[in-house]
Amino acid sequence: MNKSLPVLIVGAGPVGLSLATALARQGTAVQLFEAQPELPDEIRASTFHPATLEMLAEWGVVEPILANGQRVDRLLYWERQTRALIAAFDYQLIADDTPYPFRLQCPQHIATRVLKPLLEQSPCADVYMGHRYLGHTDFGTHVEAQFETAVGTQTVRGSYLCGADGARSSVRKQLQLGFEGMTYADRFLLVGTDLDLRPYFPHIGPVNYIFDPAEWVVVLHLPDLVRLVFRMRPDEDEREALAETAVRPRLAHFIGEKTNCRIHMTSVYSVHQRVADTFRVGRTVLLGDAAHINSPAGGMGMNSGIHDAHNLADKLSRVLNGEPETLLDQYSTERRAAARELIQAESHKNYQDWTAVDDTYRHQRNEQLRITAADPAQARAYLLRASMLAKRI
Ligand SMILES: Cc1cc2nc3c(=O)[nH]c(=O)nc-3n(C[C@H](O)[C@H](O)[C@H](O)COP(=O)(O)OP(=O)(O)OC[C@H]3O[C@@H](n4cnc5c(N)ncnc54)[C@H](O)[C@@H]3O)c2cc1C
Repeated sequence: MNKSLPVLIVGAGPVGLSLATALARQGTAVQLFEAQPELPDEIRASTFHPATLEMLAEWGVVEPILANGQRVDRLLYWERQTRALIAAFDYQLIADDTPYPFRLQCPQHIATRVLKPLLEQSPCADVYMGHRYLGHTDFGTHVEAQFETAVGTQTVRGSYLCGADGARSSVRKQLQLGFEGMTYADRFLLVGTDLDLRPYFPHIGPVNYIFDPAEWVVVLHLPDLVRLVFRMRPDEDEREALAETAVRPRLAHFIGEKTNCRIHMTSVYSVHQRVADTFRVGRTVLLGDAAHINSPAGGMGMNSGIHDAHNLADKLSRVLNGEPETLLDQYSTERRAAARELIQAESHKNYQDWTAVDDTYRHQRNEQLRITAADPAQARAYLLRASMLAKRI
């Protein structure tokens, strides 16, 4: 065991930053390497569930994240064609279960910009931007990794190497691990706008799932943007769908009239459910999107990656303090099971509900949501699941 070497973390996304924060807080030396010169600013995840807020609190960083987000006290489900509210779930029902009985909408590019400077204040952490991981060797007692930098290739020694380098992870590829799973036929069209939906959906809330057999819509109100996610038909051309000439008619079709709202951004993304064969090989560990990706239905992708970081930080620091390395296998088993049996199962069920076309299924889905929301005990159980609090791993 070489305790003097730092843990090397590849990728300064929300998951790599979380792991580095958690380890540094426990006094473990970490070096975090990010390929880009600046933190990515793409519009991606924005939901922080209560279970994740509890972890951020444990690491002493929840308050600045809360200060940069919008609290969501209700989840709303709608029918698009009738614009009828099907069910509303009030987070006050879990006020005795968590200090954070709400969902926080804080875009991940803002959250990472909050976490990075806080991490850099720690004497245990060093962050290296513009360092692209190229490969590494596991010597059994330590690892050596190569990074491409502006001044040439650098070799760094560490105790362990943690790959938090996203869905296309080079660390996972270096380990030659499979990433089995499936890709949904539907792609998602994301539109960032200032469209005011209150005249069309009275009492619309910050988070709304709007069901429709042809084109479901998710409406999220972020601090500075209304984010609409539309189902794209499998036959739609991506470039055409992104053009303003297609986006404006789509918005008009959604609200039933033309709109002059601003369109801040558009993007299209494909949706996958995939899990790496294992999350640990020797002194290399995977976490976050590098280890598993899932449908964003329910907003659990980034959250489950942060939960990986929480689980791994505990076990890795125990291993560095002399406990058996099998703890890292336990991390792999536990978090792999969570990815498959909790996250993917739940997000797939959510996705089926969004996309349902069968009238009987849709009727039963709506009935079930109404019954669940109307009964406080059932609604609480529903919110605990949606908040990732029902089963903590
Ligand atoms: C449009 C969209 C919407 C989403 N919405 C949600 C949501 O509402 N809720 C939710 O929970 N999840 C959501 N997700 C998923 C979420 O964005 C991801 O799960 C999350 O970003 C995973 O974080 P990560 O840190 O593991 O990976 P990433 O955020 O991908 O970060 C990986 C980092 O590694 C860096 N990197 C990559 N290769 C290298 C290399 N070779 N060397 C060094 N650094 C490298 C990258 O530059 C990046 O900074 C969404 C995803 C998309 C695409």
